[in-house]
Amino acid sequence: MPRRAATRKGPRIVLPDEWPYAEVARLDPEGRGDVCAELVPGVPVRLSPRIVRLTAPNPGMMTGPGTNSYFVGDPLADRWVLVDPGPADPVHLQALQQHAPGTVVKVLVTHTHVDHSPGAVAASAAFGAPVFGRRPAYPQGQDGTFAPERELVDGERLAIGPGTTLRVIHTPGHASNHLCYLLEEEQTLLTGDHVMQGSTVVINPPDGDMAAYLTALAALLEVDLAWLAPGHGFLVAKPHAVLRGLIQHRLRREAKVRAALETLRDAALDELLPRVYDDVPAGLHPVARRSLLAHLLKLKHDGAAAEEDQRWRMT
Ligand SMILES: [Zn+2]
Repeated sequence: MPRRAATRKGPRIVLPDEWPYAEVARLDPEGRGDVCAELVPGVPVRLSPRIVRLTAPNPGMMTGPGTNSYFVGDPLADRWVLVDPGPADPVHLQALQQHAPGTVVKVLVTHTHVDHSPGAVAASAAFGAPVFGRRPAYPQGQDGTFAPERELVDGERLAIGPGTTLRVIHTPGHASNHLCYLLEEEQTLLTGDHVMQGSTVVINPPDGDMAAYLTALAALLEVDLAWLAPGHGFLVAKPHAVLRGLIQHRLRREAKVRAALETLRDAALDELLPRVYDDVPAGLHPVARRSLLAHLLKLKHDGAAAEEDQRWRMT
């Protein structure tokens, strides 16, 4: 069923295959038509009693509509955490301060890529709240200002208030230190960049790891989930179907890598690239090249491929 929604240019109809659809349906079941079908920087969106989203003004090729910062909290206890303060941008910091739904007691980060964590330093100072997350295994090109009070561990449960608990789930793959946060009371997973709406997650070795990424995606199939709240994009429904789709997408690409290796027998990365990514515009091949390397390293990890003098073959 198409749904009515609002945009900055006026009302519009949102169809079931469009990204905002699930969120519009959830926030506006009666069809008032007042839920926004755009991610507008600086405008807070109350997604549930416990979740408020505020998108940073950093749209771009790698960030889509911009990085989502989330306030997650216990409205009765007036205790909130800020997840992913975003880039170090004074405009976004001001918006975070202006729209914080209550007292912020912690700043959490999903990972330390520069669109997610550099805002933590100023947000921590502004809210008087300590920062938590994990340090990257390969810090090159990442947020060098990140200094957590303590490193979070997989399975840890953070009690924000009596009725709000965040479970820490270590999800390496996009980044070695990537964490998702599960709001247990609402079965909503803050996915950071482990799952992004509408674009393929970049797996850039060595900090990115395809084998770890697929293992972490599969592990989430064992978790009770109702919604995903991604670092880029709207709320996502049917989490397990989405996760299975992501795994299948990667395995289909891996099958193309295997087929290309079998055809060429012995090939350099740049010989494999146009065959494996023949469906991807050439302009994106520099990014795809990193993913190709990630696939090859996974095949090596699985014992299926070997590398010698920067040439790859099946074993
Ligand atoms: Zn990101």
